Amino acid sequence: MTLYDDTLTLLKELVRNACVNDLTPDSGQEVRNADTLERFFAGTPGVEISRLEPRSGRTSIIVTVPGSDPDAEPLTLLGHTDVVPVDAPKWTKDPFAAEISDGRIWGRGTVDMLFITAAQAAVTRLIAREGGLRGTLTFVGVADEEARGGLGAKWLSEEHPEAFSWRNTLSESGGSHIPAKDGSDAVIVTVGEKGAAQRRLHVHGDAGHGSIPFDRDSAIVKIGEVARRIAAVDLNVAKDDVWQGFVRAFRFDPATEQSLLDGTDPSAYGSFGALARYAHAVSHLTIAQTVVRAGQAINVLPSHAHLELDIRTLPGQTNDYVDDVLRTALGDLADEVEIEHLISEEATVSSTDSGLYRVLEKVLGDFFPDATVVPTISSGGSDLRFGRRLGGVGYGFAVHARERTVAEALGQLHSHDEALYLEDLELTVRGYEAVVREFLG
Ligand SMILES: [Zn+2]
Repeated sequence: MTLYDDTLTLLKELVRNACVNDLTPDSGQEVRNADTLERFFAGTPGVEISRLEPRSGRTSIIVTVPGSDPDAEPLTLLGHTDVVPVDAPKWTKDPFAAEISDGRIWGRGTVDMLFITAAQAAVTRLIAREGGLRGTLTFVGVADEEARGGLGAKWLSEEHPEAFSWRNTLSESGGSHIPAKDGSDAVIVTVGEKGAAQRRLHVHGDAGHGSIPFDRDSAIVKIGEVARRIAAVDLNVAKDDVWQGFVRAFRFDPATEQSLLDGTDPSAYGSFGALARYAHAVSHLTIAQTVVRAGQAINVLPSHAHLELDIRTLPGQTNDYVDDVLRTALGDLADEVEIEHLISEEATVSSTDSGLYRVLEKVLGDFFPDATVVPTISSGGSDLRFGRRLGGVGYGFAVHARERTVAEALGQLHSHDEALYLEDLELTVRGYEAVVREFLG
């Protein structure tokens, strides 16, 4: 069996175990994938296996290959083992059969992110069998990523930070390509992710009978005005190197490029085509108005209304910054609006000035000699933020064929008929093997 065959066999089993995380605490049952992975590593010389679970069935597995030099940099490969639910009638394939056709493997989790998890495990086993590592290599099959890690990486990083090293961590996603206007190639590495700053805005009004509304202060009219003012707020475009490098990689005409860098013309985002929303999201604080509530009975004036905002922050944008943006948008209404904080998590980003990033650049350069390697941030979350908070660096790494664009890769996440090109599985396995040898060898 070759490394690739091992990976494909493992990937099929991980998909078939169907560790579906529907956000309830007893879903997921990643113990099935932990069992599969434990069997995969059974009898491998030189590995130490441990399992941790904060709740029955929510198992994470840690496989350590100790290095010979305690001073050498360690490397941790972090792959989540849960998947999101499926809307089965919308699928044309069985989502948990791991069927292969048309050069692809079909099924929930094939892309997000079991193919990377399988590649990481297979490379770890291969390297363990060979022995002779200087730095310690750890593979972690981690539960509960899709519910933001409370029973997985978040819990491990807070309750068992010593269980494995977070100094240099690789996880999802990355390795897809930017379709540059001049036909040149650029490949992305994910170096950070946006944060969350959820808010609930409360306003009050006069209660009373619906039959006599004259001269009342209406909570509903007020919350409507709050929504209008927040929708109209002008948000600054990011000015950091990551955003600027991302824009330049597209090789737009100079006027379009300048407009995107200045953030002066929202219509310029159309130049990104299918990536317009993503490009806007990774260059701005975004405020999505998602829930509004007021009133119960049609004949009663409500005394209270609230509006919920799904706000996503860029690196460096604090809770205070977000509240300032909201108060500025509200203007003379600000004193009548109470801002409640719901979930807040700051954005995280890893420097590209690290030994691990340089290895990723080198390996991607070997695959795609003509490509620029472009760091980017993710609009959604991954387990890497927990390691960054502990002071380590974390990158999303995979390798996709030249034709696979960033838009296509994003489009596969949580989609119906999720499917991975087998070519990308092979590239990713070779990519991880090369990175581990280069970084720990
Ligand atoms: Zn994922």
